[in-house]
Amino acid sequence: MNILITNDDGVYADGLIVLKDAMEKIGTVYVVAPDRPRSACGHSITLHKPLRADEVALRDGTPAYASSGTPSDCVALGLLAIIKEPVDLVVSGINRGPNLGWDLTYSGTVSAAMEGAIYGIQSLAVSVSTHKTEVDYSVAAEFTLNLARMLQEHKLRENTFLNVNVPPLPAARIKGVKVTRQGKRRYSGSIEKRSDPTGRDYYWLGGDLPMDTLDEGTDVKAISDGYISVTPVHLDLTDHKSLAKIQDWGIEDIQFSE
Ligand code: MN
Repeated sequence: MNILITNDDGVYADGLIVLKDAMEKIGTVYVVAPDRPRSACGHSITLHKPLRADEVALRDGTPAYASSGTPSDCVALGLLAIIKEPVDLVVSGINRGPNLGWDLTYSGTVSAAMEGAIYGIQSLAVSVSTHKTEVDYSVAAEFTLNLARMLQEHKLRENTFLNVNVPPLPAARIKGVKVTRQGKRRYSGSIEKRSDPTGRDYYWLGGDLPMDTLDEGTDVKAISDGYISVTPVHLDLTDHKSLAKIQDWGIEDIQFSE
């Protein structure tokens, strides 16, 4: 089994090396990751400048590729240019920081797994839901290994990948695992306006705490209750419930002037 690993915290992040060690138990691991932290870059890709992929060594000497691009670029580079064998699994992480609710829209970690799904490859995004600098990734790594083993038997549906979040707790304190749907988590939208030393204004976005809606069955609820959350995510962003309703507005009958 050939496994491509990437992340959005950068090629030298601790979570990446822990993930690599776990995945090596079930296959040949290729690491292609951004050469710098790229958290919250979403699904951006590099189209208008050269994309680099330099050979580097991880702390333990493992050869890896450090790319000037984003997590999604790394997946494309790995699949199209670097790895000569067919890839069976893409794993993105282990991210430091949760990817829950509306976080998915902004997440580089999740976007990399999404990119894997676009290429038709089974893909996982894995995050530990803490912003602390010292993180124990071992529970998340062990769980990801188990999940990856399962994916050898149970194939995901086309255009679907899994988004995994693990609470920052020792194994004994984790309540269990919940298969969830994407919940609602938004940020209050704070922005600070300041002046730089030359007197020019600048703004600093975010920094506020997320507001979670703790609906039963959601990723945010599972994590808040101390469970590991596994959400199947689909590439189709259509709101199917709105299709017929919006057709009824008469949009399809809008006339154009000659
Ligand atoms: Mn990150």
